[in-house]
Amino acid sequence: MSALLKDSYHRTIRDLRVSLTDRCNFRCFYCLPHGEPPIAPKEQMLSYEEIEYVCDIFVELGIEKIRLTGGEPMMRQDIEIMIRKLAKLKTPRPMSDKLQFVDDSAQNNDKLKFVGLKDLALTTNGYYLPDRAQGLKDAGLDRITISLDSLKREVFKQMTGVDVLDRVLAGIESAKKAGLQPIKINAVIVRGHNEDEVADFAAFAREHDVKMRFIEFMPLDAGHEWSRDDVVSGREIRERISERFPLVPLAVQRGSETASRYGFADGAPGEIGIIAPVTEAFCGACSRIRLTADGQIRTCLFSTVEHSLRDVVRDGASRAEIIDFIDGVVMKKEPRHFINEPTFVAPSRSMSFIGG
Ligand code: SAM
Repeated sequence: MSALLKDSYHRTIRDLRVSLTDRCNFRCFYCLPHGEPPIAPKEQMLSYEEIEYVCDIFVELGIEKIRLTGGEPMMRQDIEIMIRKLAKLKTPRPMSDKLQFVDDSAQNNDKLKFVGLKDLALTTNGYYLPDRAQGLKDAGLDRITISLDSLKREVFKQMTGVDVLDRVLAGIESAKKAGLQPIKINAVIVRGHNEDEVADFAAFAREHDVKMRFIEFMPLDAGHEWSRDDVVSGREIRERISERFPLVPLAVQRGSETASRYGFADGAPGEIGIIAPVTEAFCGACSRIRLTADGQIRTCLFSTVEHSLRDVVRDGASRAEIIDFIDGVVMKKEPRHFINEPTFVAPSRSMSFIGG
């Protein structure tokens, strides 16, 4: 592997999360408990052409994976058009000269001088999938992650603010039929709400052959009501599953992955992943940066500062100047998050505005 865009802690940045919109049709209590704050005017949002242009530059800089998110990304009109544009970035092309300079190893190896997008993914609440999953696949989407916080209708409604569990389950089926494999299912586990369903989710993963991802509740709620007491630790989640379905760690290198991954000891289909940023932080291997819908680069989910790529692009910067800007921003990436320290300040924007 060659080293491309690097931060000041020698972490290579390969993953970009792009938020397509701040808007969301769900009202998850751990994200937007009091409804949406005023949405920024449309002219402040990046257009599809602008997103395509900056993603093209990011890929030239070595970004291999782009995940579209939001808000609810499928609320952005004609998302299929955006996917079609980004899918074109999969064609390999020569790496930027600037980066060949950064990466000494690549200078001796012609093969490493090529870059290209390898993975185009989407995170969605699943609401629009029943009729549109096939269109996403046809446009060039590789993979999909669908959020599902409860398998019980009442709890789903209480956690998300909408009574649409059946529709999301139909969306998961449509995504499967469309071949958007492997399907990941995200569940945020919050004390007093759905921790009793953890083993049921594992049963769901086995039955539907999907990759369950259990996420610890993070202090990224718009209401700033997060409390440590509400966090169900990764360890507790593992234990709850293991009581019913013994797990075995998968023989894969974790690398920069957010999840620790397990298979079922009895060889059943499906997979379990535990994402525990609060109790088992994985910042040392972080390879991610984020681009908000209004064009701000965030170098960490918990950043308290943002860097306006939108202003740089709209002020008419040349491609080389944009590359310099991105390079400089990446060098400012935080060493880690500070959730567990007394000085921690939660970011002012919630997950729906940052792009989860
Ligand atoms: N609307 C899409 C969805 O529902 O998946 C994409 C955006 S959503 C912000 C992305 C992911 O962030 C979801 O899986 C959601 O559950 C998760 N999320 C939001 N707020 C969170 C929080 N405070 N702690 C942990 N995960 C959170």
